[in-house]
Amino acid sequence: MKRTIPFNKPCVLDDGLSFISNALDNQKLCGNGQFTQKCQSFFEDTYGFKKTLLTTSCTDALEMAAMLCDIKHGDEVIIPSYTFVSTALAFVRQGAKIVFADSEKDTPNLDVDKLEMLITDKTVAIVPVHYAGVSVDMDKLMHLAEKHNLWVIEDAAQAIDATYKGQPLGKFGHLACFSFHETKNITAGEGGLLVVNDDRLLRRSEIIWEKGTNRSEFFRGEVNKYGWVDTGSSFLPSELNAAFLYSQLIHIEEIQKKRITLWQRYYDNLNIEDVVDKIKLPYIPPYASNNAHMFYLVCKTGNLRTELINYLKEHNVHATFHYLCLHDSEFSRKQNWISSDIINAVRYSDCLVRLPLFYDLSLKDVDYISKLIINFLNKNE
Ligand SMILES: *Cc1c(COP(=O)(O)O)cnc(C)c1O
Repeated sequence: MKRTIPFNKPCVLDDGLSFISNALDNQKLCGNGQFTQKCQSFFEDTYGFKKTLLTTSCTDALEMAAMLCDIKHGDEVIIPSYTFVSTALAFVRQGAKIVFADSEKDTPNLDVDKLEMLITDKTVAIVPVHYAGVSVDMDKLMHLAEKHNLWVIEDAAQAIDATYKGQPLGKFGHLACFSFHETKNITAGEGGLLVVNDDRLLRRSEIIWEKGTNRSEFFRGEVNKYGWVDTGSSFLPSELNAAFLYSQLIHIEEIQKKRITLWQRYYDNLNIEDVVDKIKLPYIPPYASNNAHMFYLVCKTGNLRTELINYLKEHNVHATFHYLCLHDSEFSRKQNWISSDIINAVRYSDCLVRLPLFYDLSLKDVDYISKLIINFLNKNE
């Protein structure tokens, strides 16, 4: 029987179960226990984030961000069109008008050079997405944000352990949001993290996280009773999730090393004349590191992409396209929103294909998939 290579397989390490079992032994299963603290300390110590709060998803972390920035009805928020729905959702719920930015020619990231013309006196925030864990040009973006007094919320869902000019992503924006969904490098099944870098937002972030109460201050002994002081919601993941997440965090170097080896093998196999004449390989700008979140190809046409996906599927390899541009979604078209001239994002939407890349994938699998792609292209001459 022919073996099937799935697009993704969640990373599960041997420690996963024993850490969950430890959490059960602790007899504290709700949020903000020992494992939550361990995960948060890991992020603060490893990446130098000022404060981190574990959440049930990156979508939820973005919701906290939109609440913290006090986004109001009529405010404008700039996000790339080529991203996941969640990047927009939190701001839409606060009543914001979404302004869509185009991608760069060479990467699916938003084109910072074309941002300034989207800024109006209603603009309050920019949400850059580090696509495939490859950094947006943050110096330019932060400079622009400072000039116009805008919040920057990094959607770093895919960007764990990645850097811009040597500094960890998630450290640049006033706030940043990470995901531990099963498709990400490090997973808890579902999970997320809010990073708070701006001093003005520190206190309120804890309160919103703790359902609008000052419970955290009470437990630190800073106040002698706690109560309802602000808006908020239930954003804490259970200790079972945090325990599982922690089992991966302590092995992050090993996980990343494996993923980078697989990514590089794809790149080396496919970086040959026969291929690069017809298909574009991922481009990593000199300021960005590569956390090997994703290996993608950009075909010359949408038809070629569909044929490639079908060809791989016939050989039991599951490759897949990615985002449909948000500016062109059913929901967006019903709103009174603005979008700039969006050309590159449409091309990525039509022509980008993602190849299998996960912890349990082998170099042999990568060689096999690469060979299929080369065969497909030769057949298509
Ligand atoms: C995965 C992802 C999200 C959503 O993450 P969840 O943890 O599933 O909520 C948001 N934005 C981007 C860019 C993503 O890749």
